[in-house]
Amino acid sequence: MNPKDPNYPKPLSKAVVAVMKANKRANTKPELAIRALLHKKGLRFRKDFPIKLGNRRCRPDIVFTRIKLAIFIDGCFWHQCPEHGHKPMANVEYWERKLTGNVERDLADTTLLRANGWHVLRLWEHVPVQEAVDFIMEKVTVIRGTCS
Ligand SMILES: [Zn+2]
Repeated sequence: MNPKDPNYPKPLSKAVVAVMKANKRANTKPELAIRALLHKKGLRFRKDFPIKLGNRRCRPDIVFTRIKLAIFIDGCFWHQCPEHGHKPMANVEYWERKLTGNVERDLADTTLLRANGWHVLRLWEHVPVQEAVDFIMEKVTVIRGTCS
């Protein structure tokens, strides 16, 4: 966010800042746990690997380059999960635009990746880590089975 942007919300209440910090923490944790467990299971992948798609670039959280599998662990707040995607009560217009923009970009990235031959998995951060890892491993096995 650019503070010079006239749409930049100010001032943020302490409560909103606390919520954002909590969300940031929550967003990074499952991602780390999932990567650690995948690694322990012997899978090798790239993290935050930039993929160029025409004039766009996206950065999935976990990328299996050889089998072209891109995985996103979407934060419930930033990506507006149907169960936990609350919008802040302050600066409603700003957040509406920001969060709707995120969701639209997610959709555009998924569509573009698929059009370029990528497999795409999007998992909500609220999915239990073990469940997410099982799901990813199953997907990897299936793709490896079909392309080699
Ligand atoms: Zn959620």
